[in-house]
Amino acid sequence: MSVTSFKGGVHPPERKSRSEHLGIESAFPQTKTVWIPVTQGGAPNTPVVSVGDVVARGQKIASSEAFMSAPVHASVAGTVKKIETRLVTGNVDALCVAIEADGSDRTAFLPPLDPFMCTREESLARVRDAGLVGMGGAAFPTHVKMNPPKGSRIDYVLANGAECEPYLTVDARTMAESAEKVVDGLAIAMRLTGAPAGIIALEDNKADLAPVLEKAIASQRCNPVGPGACDISVRLCKTKYPQGGEKMLIKAVVGREVPSGGLPSAAGCVVQNVGTLKALSEAFREGKPLVDRALTVSGGACAEPKNLEVPIGTLVGDLIPSVIKLNPGVAKILAGGPMMGVSMKGADFPVQKNTSGVLFLTKEETSLLEESPCIGCGACIRACSCRLAPVLIVRAIDGGNLDEAKRCGLMDCVECGTCAYVCPARVKLVQRFRVGKALVRAEAQRAQARAAAAAARAEQTKGER
Ligand code: SF4
Ligand code: SF4
Repeated sequence: MSVTSFKGGVHPPERKSRSEHLGIESAFPQTKTVWIPVTQGGAPNTPVVSVGDVVARGQKIASSEAFMSAPVHASVAGTVKKIETRLVTGNVDALCVAIEADGSDRTAFLPPLDPFMCTREESLARVRDAGLVGMGGAAFPTHVKMNPPKGSRIDYVLANGAECEPYLTVDARTMAESAEKVVDGLAIAMRLTGAPAGIIALEDNKADLAPVLEKAIASQRCNPVGPGACDISVRLCKTKYPQGGEKMLIKAVVGREVPSGGLPSAAGCVVQNVGTLKALSEAFREGKPLVDRALTVSGGACAEPKNLEVPIGTLVGDLIPSVIKLNPGVAKILAGGPMMGVSMKGADFPVQKNTSGVLFLTKEETSLLEESPCIGCGACIRACSCRLAPVLIVRAIDGGNLDEAKRCGLMDCVECGTCAYVCPARVKLVQRFRVGKALVRAEAQRAQARAAAAAARAEQTKGER
């Protein structure tokens, strides 16, 4: 099998060996209470339950009318105890529904639905009703991704099993333990998007999974699933960060470029994380909404790294020390991997639909060095997988020139952190890019509001004439 890749990128230490062969264990918070953020990807939801309500596992607890939204469901059966804000990933306060589990196994799942017999509209409605969002990190509503813009033709669905972030091993374990569901989810995604081909993409450090997936693909072929859903193959990509980024994966696997500012659909592709594909299969076959997720818990300060499956809303702190055992000397807690993860103030934050890992890092593993002035070495330019010039973008942002930052590609940056990783001066590039993007978006909103106000004024003047 040939191995493909993209230009740029880096090779950070993988640090996966402590958890890559450990099976996914089920765990439950010792407080028996989950704190479920009401919005986990897409437009803001509002709660549809009240304090005191008794809920079943899988029951909808928050939703929105907006198309670009995904509902949220109770992950345990129990009683709603509180609806209030608390710290979530990103160190921001967000509205959460606290449910105390009553120990029963009451569920309110959807009825199973045959994905190859129902209409496309019924399928898309199922994906949305199950609250599916991208579980690899972005939390983009899956029904939106499965419904590409009119006129775009999808040639490939890529199952993203690259898992290029150091330490994280949960996607590899998901493929090892649930290969049939991943392949079934991919076949469903192909039917939904009309793609004639599906490719499961792995970094070559996971080549041992290829035969497991190929066996699952062979059994899928024996099971007639409908036209166009059988051309599934496995492809190996070079182990290199950020191989799992959508644009990099598309370039490496099918050799196509996603145009600047464009979506993968502009290159005829839809990319879905392997965990999302497993959840997609369960949403149809079992009627199961997205109420649990698997994640890797690791890092040098973690005494026993693990791959765990927990109800969504489990506070990480509620797994310590019964499930997660720590060594002294935790210098940093990250939600996610070390390249794109978010540094957290403490461990009392809920696992969300897109929490692929939690890392407890020692001082030696984390860069606590202070930023120093840019020395103009150009290392960030050579490493950028999106072929941008990070140093020029950051200079434009620091100089308050957002137009110049945009011209240099600010909005094309995927925030992979590769440039910051190679920067000898430890310039906080990604943080600056996030701030710059927020300023650009705020300016765009203000311009939109000004245009709407001007249009309303013109309409009023017309009416007065
Ligand atoms: S500029 Fe953006 S896309 Fe390029 S390496 Fe830095 S974070 Fe990644
Ligand atoms: S890698 Fe860092 S020091 Fe070198 S040019 Fe880029 S920002 Fe400046």
